[in-house]
Amino acid sequence: MSEKGVTKKTETRCSFCNHTKEQVNSTAKFVQGNGVFICPDCVKICITIINADLKDAPDSKNPIGLLTPKEIFKHLDDYVVGQNDSKKTLAVAVYNHYKRLHLKDLSDRQLIDENANASDNDSESKYNIEIAKSNILLVGPTGTGKTYLAQSLAKMMRVPFCIADATSVTEAGYVGDDVENILHRLIAAADGDIIQAERGIVYIDEIDKVARSTNSLKGNKDISGEGVQQALLKIVEGTKVKLTDTAKTTKNSKDKPDVYMDTSNVLFIFAGAFVGLDDIVKTRLNKDSSFGFFSANDEKSDNNDGLSKEELESLEKKNYLKQVNTEDLQEYGMIPEFIGRVPVVAVVEDLSISDLVSILTEPKNALIKQYKKQLELDGVDLQFDKDATTEIAKMAMAQGTGARGLRTILERILEPIMFAVPDNDTVKKIVIKQADVLNGYKNKELEIF
Ligand code: ADP
Repeated sequence: MSEKGVTKKTETRCSFCNHTKEQVNSTAKFVQGNGVFICPDCVKICITIINADLKDAPDSKNPIGLLTPKEIFKHLDDYVVGQNDSKKTLAVAVYNHYKRLHLKDLSDRQLIDENANASDNDSESKYNIEIAKSNILLVGPTGTGKTYLAQSLAKMMRVPFCIADATSVTEAGYVGDDVENILHRLIAAADGDIIQAERGIVYIDEIDKVARSTNSLKGNKDISGEGVQQALLKIVEGTKVKLTDTAKTTKNSKDKPDVYMDTSNVLFIFAGAFVGLDDIVKTRLNKDSSFGFFSANDEKSDNNDGLSKEELESLEKKNYLKQVNTEDLQEYGMIPEFIGRVPVVAVVEDLSISDLVSILTEPKNALIKQYKKQLELDGVDLQFDKDATTEIAKMAMAQGTGARGLRTILERILEPIMFAVPDNDTVKKIVIKQADVLNGYKNKELEIF
């Protein structure tokens, strides 16, 4: 160990990771003791390990003291309406991800223990099985909660989280957002702490838009999408990425020309609408003659429990998407190396009118609850008739942008009220009815005509 601690040129190196002062991600000093040194990065790892040890004694079912998949599901359920299959898939994937990190902490600690006690060096590590990372792909229409699921997850796990858009990323060397910028965003979300950022979650939207355009669904051939997928692979694969633009990361970047970020423990969640993917699945499944779903245009659809044609089509699409496999994603234009790095696929579903009504009223921070709170501060009790919420949901549905349209519709209805109420002491209660949604809210007392 003492050999590692000091090199011939008396350059100080960490006795744990062997990094020099220039190679570590912090300006803090190396700690010295009895011929050995420890760098600030390794001190942080030690603190994490010791803190994990000091936590309450873990129970036998959940020996690592993490939220269980059911607890994660429950939390997501407080905020996100429907999408139960995706919630389950995400809950298991995130639980496994953090279990994997925990195992890594344990194996790091064992390395430290073994370093401290050389006689153990020959012993087989019980933590030396590395669990591979399971990045996630969320497939489904816009405005159905893909981003919201990921945001809610990150908030619950208390890890740095950032959102990026695959369409703004370019192949290295082209003008636009380089993949490295995504890491800078994650580091910024971690308040500049690279070690924290290395355990964060990155959400990359619109990944379907960088599909290789060689399939029949998208007429024009465009190979740049493949380049972007390759560029993204660089960070997804889990390597030490050299951050060239260190000014974005650290304050006194002059002293530290080489700053690295290890992305092997960053969880990547990709999302996209993948319009037409259901047709690819359908074609593949139909080749297998033994397989058959009912179709909206099928005779079999007579037995449809009174569902409308649109509802049947949505159900059919959902059923096909649920069968998506790597072959279909490749056919869509995702490159095999990329698919290989994103093994968990969850399908989010179209939202129904009743889902949209629930989104308005039920989640912990439901939109209507937010507006109620705002007006409560002005001394007004805001209420919505059931018909009114259904009408809002129908309007949002007609826009075809999932739940995205709900806020705009509410804002349009409530803006005159929010403008007038603060100057009025007499109106104490406002009930929004279906007619108000359709024709605009009117109230003589508030001078809204
Ligand atoms: P996308 O699927 O396109 O990523 P988002 O997650 O960004 O959609 O949804 C936009 C907004 O609509 C969210 O911020 C949230 O307020 C609301 N929303 C969408 N889907 C749901 C859902 N299933 N449950 C609750 N709110 C939702």
